Parts: sequence; structure tokens; C-alpha cells
Amino acid sequence: MNVEKIMQELELKHPGEVEYLQAVREVLESIEEFYNSNPQYEKAKIIERLIEPDRVLIFKVPWEDDKGEIHVNIGYRVQFNNAIGPYKGGLRFHPSVNLSILKFLGFEQIFKNALTTLSMGGAKGGSDFNPKGKSNTEIMRFCYSFMLELWRIIGPDTDVPAGDIGVGAREIGYLYGMYRKLLMENTGVLTGKGLNYGGSLIRPEATGYGVVYFTQEMLKTRGLDIKGKKVALSGFGNVAWGAAKKLNSLGAKVITISGPDGYIYDEEGISGEKVDFMLELRASNEDIVKPYAYKFKNSVFYEGKKPWEVPCDIAIPCATQNELDKTDAENLVRNGCICVTEGANMPCTPEAIEVIQKNKLLYAPGKAANAGGVATSGLEMSQNAMKLMWSAEEVDRRLNEIMKNIHSQCVKYGTESDGYINYVKGANIAGFIKVANAMLEQGIY
Ligand code: NDP
Repeated sequence: MNVEKIMQELELKHPGEVEYLQAVREVLESIEEFYNSNPQYEKAKIIERLIEPDRVLIFKVPWEDDKGEIHVNIGYRVQFNNAIGPYKGGLRFHPSVNLSILKFLGFEQIFKNALTTLSMGGAKGGSDFNPKGKSNTEIMRFCYSFMLELWRIIGPDTDVPAGDIGVGAREIGYLYGMYRKLLMENTGVLTGKGLNYGGSLIRPEATGYGVVYFTQEMLKTRGLDIKGKKVALSGFGNVAWGAAKKLNSLGAKVITISGPDGYIYDEEGISGEKVDFMLELRASNEDIVKPYAYKFKNSVFYEGKKPWEVPCDIAIPCATQNELDKTDAENLVRNGCICVTEGANMPCTPEAIEVIQKNKLLYAPGKAANAGGVATSGLEMSQNAMKLMWSAEEVDRRLNEIMKNIHSQCVKYGTESDGYINYVKGANIAGFIKVANAMLEQGIY
């Protein structure tokens, strides 16, 4: 494989799809050496077949607001690769959603899902619909309209969507309701469902818990413990909340959270009722973190700034893509940070990753560290298929095991000659091998 040549051709075919091109380049560069020393992959043109999605469904989503006005949004489902199992990946409702972002997320999802060792292919979907400020009935009408198209290409053994930014339990409920009505069936066609109709215990916390389990494993490789470590988190959504809960239970201290308006620094630690308050902030229509500083007087709000300027032992970006850049990475290194774990998908820019890895910090890419979310979705699918429900302890135990296993795979394929573990390389190669071998075994279609 010649990465530059492939990327040039891809850029010509998909001009302007910046996030997608960035994600493909990162994977290709990290597996290039391995790929080229295993000619069976080149012979079967695995890379050329892997970097284009199997299919993309784009559809209009008309809906009526509470005043009777009609709106039209765009809906997408990118089915990227199902060589190892049904397509699986979340739905994102956010005004920034476009084809490039969903292709980047769907492409990453292939490797992430393979790493979990569960049988799940890669997909992603969503809409440029903005749920913020909408009433429950408006959200319901939008979700119903979205499902009136999506149902055609999903199914419990075909494609199993889940939540992502802007799609939580409420949206999944409405989407599931319309699917059930249309198909007259109760199946595991969506994950992240409510506990009353087939959801799994621990799913809401799973991504954050998994991020922390992975961080623990990384620290162990240097003989370190998470207890007593100061942790800077960004975001204040689902992933940040789960991570904060688990960090506190393990004796670490969470000192920051952030929103699009700025970040909160709380020297005393964000624990107990303060973590619960994150959910209230998230549920408010304003969706900003500033109110935290009004409520908890010893905390400080830094408007328009990011938490990466605060001295910390561990940084866990949990908000969105490209939120931690080169300058932020330099600040973290200068302030003695030892570990950066990606809770969000692709939160570090390529320049930031270069700084972090050059300085030999522990660094985990999202596709390995945040795979606990989709892994627990996989566990939800298993419970649905068996028509039973595991206890929270059972799900948590399996999640922990899966995260340890992902870590071992990264160590196996990512350890470099000087002993440094390149988790990007390790995760990409381990995920690639599983999918590529399945593709080889099944022929070219
Ligand atoms: P949420 O929407 O629950 O939370 C994200 C939070 O971060 C929101 O409060 C958002 O505010 C805020 N935010 C957005 N942009 C910024 C920014 N630039 N700086 C600071 N805060 C910001 O999403 P999730 O927690 O579910 O997801 C977060 C990330 O984790 C995404 O990248 C997602 O793809 C990834 N992920 C999520 C999984 C899950 O199970 N939920 C699984 C694996 C990955 P606002 O809404 O105003 O933009």
C-alpha cells in the first residue's frame, strides 16, 4: 500500500470530507508497515474495499413543530462494513452533522467494534436536527419521521443503531416505538433502550466506566495506580458523567469539566452530588456548564477556555472531535500530565497526538478507550437475543474483562522496539486483522 497515493485518490473522490479523510489517513499510516509485510491483504485489495462504505442512505426528514410549522432535516445512515457482524454504531443528532463526520465515525467504528471481540460491524448515522430547545412532542415527531425511512435498512441481525451526541434514552424510546409499530416486533433492533423494554443495566455509564478501566490498565504498565490522581475531564455529557462516577469510586480526583461555553475548575473534586448535577446541567435546555460555579461556590468558571491548561496527572477529553490541539498538548506535557485517554471520538488533533507520543505519555485513542460503550451495547444485544437480563454486576464484570482484553491486544500489536506502547498502532492493527481476515475468508463481495 502506498498511503499517499491512496489518500490522493480518496481526496479526489471525496473532496472536502475533512474528518473522514483525517480518520482514514490516521489508520492507514499506523498499519502501513504491518500491511505491507502481509501481501495477502494487498492482493485482495482489502484497504481499497475497507475505506469506502458498503452503502449510504440519505433521506429527508420532514416534521412539524408545536406551532404547526413544517421543517425538513437530512437523515443519514452510513453502513460501512459488516464482515464480522451486523452493522452497529450510534445515531447523532446535531446541527454539525454531515456526511464527512458520519463517514469518519462509521470508519472508526469498524475497528472499535472489532476490538471488543464481539460480532459487530461498523456503521454510523444521524441528522443535522438540533434537539436543543425542542419540546418532547417535537422530538417525538422528528424521531418518528426519521424512523419512517430508517426502518427499511435496519434489523436485529442487519443493522443495530444506538445513541450518540443528541440521542439519549428519550430519542431511542421514540425511535424504537415507531419501529415496533411499523414492524410489529420487539427485538434488539436498537441499543441504549430503557430498562422497561429490553435495555441493559450499566449501559448509560458504560462508555465512561470503560474509559477509566482502560486508563487503569495503561497506568499498570508503568507500575502506577489511579488512586489519588488528579484528572481533567472535558465535556459534561454521558461519557464525562460515567467517567467521573468511576474515577471517584476508585479514589481519583476529578478537577475539571467543560462545555462549549468554557470550563469549571473545582479544586475540591467533582464528586457525589456534583456528579449528579452534571445530569441536571445536561438536561437543561441551555446546555452550558457555567451554572455549576453558581451552585458550588469554591469552583471557578473560565469562560471560553479549555481545561487542558490546568495541571493534572491524567487528561480525558470527553466532549467532541478535535477539541485538544497542539498547544493544549504542549500545556499538558509542560504541566506534568502522564496520560491522555480519549473518551470522545478523535478529540485530539493529529498535531496534538504527535506531541503527546513524542513525549512518551501514555495515550489511548478513542477507538480503544471508549469501546466500552458499544461493547455494552453488544451485551444488550446478547441479552435481547436470549430474552433475559443480567445483573449490573454481571454486565460490569464483562465490561471490565472486555476493556482489559482490548488493552492486551493494543500491547501485543503496539509495543515498539524501545518498549513504548503505541496504542494507536496497536488498536488499528488488532482491529484491522480481525476484519481483514474475515473479508479474506468470505471472498470479494
Ligand atoms: P453528550 O452530548 O452527552 O455530551 C457531550 C458534551 O460535551 C455536551 O455537553 C456538549 O455540549 C459538550 N461539548 C460539545 N463541544 C464541546 C466543546 N468544544 N468543548 C467542551 N464541551 C463541548 O455526548 P456523549 O457524552 O454521548 O459523547 C461525547 C463524545 O464521546 C462524542 O465524541 C461521542 O461520539 C463519543 N462517544 C460516546 C459514546 C456514548 O456511549 N455516549 C460511546 C463512544 C464514544 P453541546 O451539546 O452544547 O455541544
